[in-house]
Amino acid sequence: MLNLARKDSFANGIHPPEMKDETSHLAIRRFPFAPLLIVPLSQHLGKPASSVVRAGQEVSRGQVIAEADGFMSVAMHAPASGIVKKIALAPGIGGNMIESVYIEPHPASSQEVEGGEACDVESATADEIIAAIQSAGIVGLGGAAFPTHVKLKPPEGKTLDTLIINGVECEPYLTTDHRVMLEQTADIFNGIRYLLKATGAGESIIAIEANKSDAAKKLQDECPADLPVSIRVCPVKYPQGAEKMVIQSLLHREIPSGGLPADVGAICVNVATTAEIGRLLPRGHGIQERVITIGGPGIKRKGNYRIPIGTTVRFALDEAGAAKDIARVFLGGPMMGPSVSNLDIPITKGTSGITAFTQAQIDEATGHKHIYPCIHCARCVEACPLFLNPSQLGILAKNEEYDRMVGEFHLMDCFECGACSYVCPSHIPLVQYFRLSKKMVRKLSAAK
Ligand code: SF4
Ligand code: SF4
Repeated sequence: MLNLARKDSFANGIHPPEMKDETSHLAIRRFPFAPLLIVPLSQHLGKPASSVVRAGQEVSRGQVIAEADGFMSVAMHAPASGIVKKIALAPGIGGNMIESVYIEPHPASSQEVEGGEACDVESATADEIIAAIQSAGIVGLGGAAFPTHVKLKPPEGKTLDTLIINGVECEPYLTTDHRVMLEQTADIFNGIRYLLKATGAGESIIAIEANKSDAAKKLQDECPADLPVSIRVCPVKYPQGAEKMVIQSLLHREIPSGGLPADVGAICVNVATTAEIGRLLPRGHGIQERVITIGGPGIKRKGNYRIPIGTTVRFALDEAGAAKDIARVFLGGPMMGPSVSNLDIPITKGTSGITAFTQAQIDEATGHKHIYPCIHCARCVEACPLFLNPSQLGILAKNEEYDRMVGEFHLMDCFECGACSYVCPSHIPLVQYFRLSKKMVRKLSAAK
């Protein structure tokens, strides 16, 4: 029986407006092909894939265009049938340039994906499933883009007892996971079969926030009797969907500082990633598209779209009817999504949404905010789900005291949820300080 009144949650956190009503009821629609698709060879954490095509070559949709370069890497597949125009650098989200395959789709081709080597869940071994997930190019679709097959192999000496399927989707505006749970229910259960076999975990839990009760009910109603799955509904609270928080809420296990879910016997896989495993592996296909939410007040045709990887943000915004005076665009939602400075960057496997605002909307939401000095109100401390001290970290960041930030105040544990910035009455951009500080820490330690 599904219990919607459970109080499985974590301490602290915040309640920003959810802003999901405008797209949560809209079924997933297919997005048209852009005249040019840009497929970066590095869309995941780890080593870039290694290109196996050349300029001028014809490719068919779903064909492998780059192979994994080592274990910490995944394959890339052509998002459309067409011609490889060039292999060259293209801008990425952080302003960095990434080697990419530029494909011009054939407008009149069928765009059917040709069959590959299917992975049968009944007969495949755990290692074969892990290899098939790597070959399918599957990474965390929730935004982290961590290669999924790497997660499935726990470090030596660790065992996994519980598989958590993360359908929390706590980020405002985003409704892709919600729609995937409603529309790809069978794929999700199929994906769970693969994941349970690959990890050896004895049980799985699908975690959902209470604002998606229709999805929770559908999953509960259609859950196969032979699958060890339970559906757990958490109260709506940000950042409930963060891996550490969802494990704490459901299993009451705390991942140690600098540790991994495997340290507490758990593995957490995003629900859309699970659905893609369940959909692609039986067909032997790879990821060439993903579901994203295009929303925010600056968008006319808001919705959930199955969009080819490599579509530029500019094309996506034009097709979705973005207002001409769009001033701020986030890849993902406004809490954790990075703000985009160049609209010609491509949508990658880790892009869960595009959220767009005009300047007037930003001014209205922020009230033309100025940054004032810290008044030591401790609201940021009460908001931080990890019990960090954002106020102190903010002061140290301004003074560039990186050693103290890391050694005394655990900067590297911060997962940049932005809850502290959200509640700060002085409008101090704490999370931006922490992002920059972490970059500096990595740069300094690489230089050493
Ligand atoms: S951004 Fe970091 S410091 Fe701020 S609330 Fe989130 S985890 Fe805590
Ligand atoms: S919320 Fe802002 S003003 Fe209050 S203690 Fe934290 S940093 Fe200072």
